[in-house]
Amino acid sequence: MQLPPTLTVKHLADLLRVSPIDVIKQLMRNGVMAAINQVIDFDLAATVTPAFGYRAKPEERAKTPVTDVLHAGVASDDDVGMNSRSPVVTILGHVDHGKTTLLDTIRDSRITEGEVGGITQHIGAYQVDYNGQKVTFLDTPGHEAFTAIRARGAQITDIAILVVAADDGVMPQTVEAIDHARAAELPIIVAINKIDLPDAQPDRVKGQLLEHSLVLEDFGGEIIGVPVSAKNRTGIDDLLESILVVAEISELKANPGSPASGVVIESQLDRNRGPVATLLVQSGTLKVGNSIVAGTAWGRIRAMENDLRRRIKQAGPSVPVEIQGFRSVPQAGDRFVVVPNPKTARALVQENVVKGEEEQNLSRALTLEGVMSRISAGDVKELNLIIKADAQGSVEAVRGSLQRLDSPSARVNILHASAGGVNESDVLLASASNAIILAFNVGTEPSAEPAAEREAVEIRTYDIIYQIIEDVEKALKGILEPAYKDVVQGTATVRAVFRAGRVGRAAGVIVNDGRFTRGIAARVIRNGNVVTESSVSSLRRFKDDVNEVTAGFECGIGIVGFEDFQEGDVIESHRRERSRA
Ligand code: GDP
Repeated sequence: MQLPPTLTVKHLADLLRVSPIDVIKQLMRNGVMAAINQVIDFDLAATVTPAFGYRAKPEERAKTPVTDVLHAGVASDDDVGMNSRSPVVTILGHVDHGKTTLLDTIRDSRITEGEVGGITQHIGAYQVDYNGQKVTFLDTPGHEAFTAIRARGAQITDIAILVVAADDGVMPQTVEAIDHARAAELPIIVAINKIDLPDAQPDRVKGQLLEHSLVLEDFGGEIIGVPVSAKNRTGIDDLLESILVVAEISELKANPGSPASGVVIESQLDRNRGPVATLLVQSGTLKVGNSIVAGTAWGRIRAMENDLRRRIKQAGPSVPVEIQGFRSVPQAGDRFVVVPNPKTARALVQENVVKGEEEQNLSRALTLEGVMSRISAGDVKELNLIIKADAQGSVEAVRGSLQRLDSPSARVNILHASAGGVNESDVLLASASNAIILAFNVGTEPSAEPAAEREAVEIRTYDIIYQIIEDVEKALKGILEPAYKDVVQGTATVRAVFRAGRVGRAAGVIVNDGRFTRGIAARVIRNGNVVTESSVSSLRRFKDDVNEVTAGFECGIGIVGFEDFQEGDVIESHRRERSRA
């Protein structure tokens, strides 16, 4: 008789065509107490089949691509064998509102005498016990770390704790955190922190949250708000209890019997231990000796430690562990999966390498045009946007006009809107939630530029509100033209003006940077204002016509249809490039 790797007692009884009671009795005779809906594994099932006249053989599975194994852990989490699992919590909030202190206080609350020395080094996540139930905390606070993992395609958090300092109230990063948690569709619990301070105003915080549509229970809403002092350790039990209540409502489930899978939350190369990785098990049970693959790294688990740095042999859903045995360092944010043997592991890594290269070749950039074609094709029904503008007034103006836009095929969904330049957290949110960033009269912060490049996020800059609305409207209707942007090729300063034969007046310039070529588009700028938009008609060095002049050289430049140069004018050459596509 062929049996799957795991099955319920009832399923086994059905296959044996006997009553489940008989199977349970037989299991009891073999020393195992099992309930009718309990999941047992192949080995255990095989111990009872002989009593009913069968010998068990592992089920032969149709050969599937190894990639399918990657999803097996998650996909097999159907109702059979599902157990409730502990919630995984991330702490978000504005800087200095007490996220780290709260994490430390909660961690300390579990330490009993004698364990203190054991956890000086953290492993990136920890579990606490509250009245016999466990809660897992991710130790990297802040919405950027959280969204960075989401941007890599993994969702590891079940509940977001929003920390708001009662003396400071809702601040810009509080709003970012709210929007990031919402974009991830997470339930939010508000921890109103620092209530020990004399100038703490918890009610003011509640009112401010209302403005961001977070309606706390006191105001008739459903969001739990817990006053705490991370410093004085007050309210911590209430907070843990609230987390368990929200977890209960969320009905978090996982199948401990399926092959283990989850996410790499941290990794490093340790001089003595080799590659070490902190993993969060999301499904199944991870065991020492398992063959494991994460992205393009694989290995066999040699040793496993829990958050208290105690050696353990296995870890079930929602348990964070640090493991040794990867052959190379896996990337944080990558999903991991347990596979039957090293051979499969190597094959899967090979597939992942190829897939990674394909993805690199395939531009996965998300552009407004791209979304438009997906809307037209009926693949998406929402246009996710992030709005950044120079002032709160313009944020509201842009938001207001965009929210009014609607089309039968798709609706505008504004994930986040705030004043200020485009920052890294905006880019990560856009990447994690497939959104486009619309920047009105603001630039992009230096650190956000490489992030946008890496994450292939489109940032569209505008200086006229009408144009934003027009573009978004066109995208919704499916008639947006490709976007072009001007890329400056070179700048030059006018030093002198002279007559130059048949081309009329030309400018004697020094090229400051970049290059000028004949025919290239150019504009003349005087005191910051563009005086003409045209192109380069002639380019001369000494008496010779040349095709190109680069930075550091002097030359004469003629501009088509323009002669009115003045000393000090700046000439800019530029190229029109298709926006990142
Ligand atoms: P984070 O940036 O959000 O991680 O904030 P920290 O945890 O680093 O805390 C910022 C500052 O607030 C530190 O000086 C903490 O000691 C202080 N702090 C944190 N929680 C409390 C609290 O409950 N009461 C008071 N009075 N201070 C707190």
